[in-house]
This record gives sequence, structure tokens and C-alpha cells, in this order.
Amino acid sequence: MSGVREFLKSLSDRELAFLIKFKYSGYLNNSKKLILEEVDERGLSNLALSKLVKDSPFGGDVSSLNQCMRCGSFKLSTVSELKKFTGRMEAIGYIFSGKSGKVEKTECLVCGYVLSDPNRDREVKFDWVERVFRRKKK
Ligand SMILES: [Zn+2]
Repeated sequence: MSGVREFLKSLSDRELAFLIKFKYSGYLNNSKKLILEEVDERGLSNLALSKLVKDSPFGGDVSSLNQCMRCGSFKLSTVSELKKFTGRMEAIGYIFSGKSGKVEKTECLVCGYVLSDPNRDREVKFDWVERVFRRKKK
């Protein structure tokens, strides 16, 4: 629980405002309480919070993968997760080729914006083409 509190303390007012707007409803009650306490301690009103989100000065380098495109935070997490298989043949192909089938997903810790998710971005059509090629090689 102290982890949540520490994280909240590390946020700027603007980051806190974005967290509340985009992620608050997904938190458990204990964490929600901590978030509201943090808002109270900083003396931020609802109006001030919504103004922080609305007046977001972020208009910087959107090509930078070190910064969230929505809230401008640098607090990102990159997790390696198993590639989702879109078809049985593809899954079998991965098993026999011995590839790990891992992809990197980058998500904003503050507002939850997903900067990069190969599992989601990948087009089904491309998977289909790849499957055909894999079969032909054998
Ligand atoms: Zn963000």
C-alpha cells in the first residue's frame, strides 16, 4: 500500500490530475482513498484538477517514446509480454521455430495511455501473410 502512496507523492499536480481523470475508476477502494487524501493535502479543487488536464501544455515531441503522448509524463513502464497468437497455424509456427514470441508493451503509469503495444497494433492481415510464408519455406 505504501507503494501507491509513494507513487502518488512522486507525481506532479498535472500528473495527479491525469491519473484521476483516466485511471481513478479502475483503482480499488483503498487506493482511491489514498488518491483523494493526496488531492486534499495538495489543496486541489475539482476545478483545479480539470483545468490541469484541459490546459495541458504538452505539445512536444510526440515521436519520443520516453514521454506519454497524452499527459506528457516520463513515468512509463515497458513490460515484455507473450505475443498473442491470432491463429492456430501461427502458434504452431512459433512452437516449432523455437522463437520466444515476446513483444514489448509500453504504457504510461500515470494515465494508462498505451504508447506501443505490438499485440494490439499488429494487423491480422500481416499475420496471415507471415503464416503463408512460413509454410512455404518448409
Ligand atoms: Zn500519460
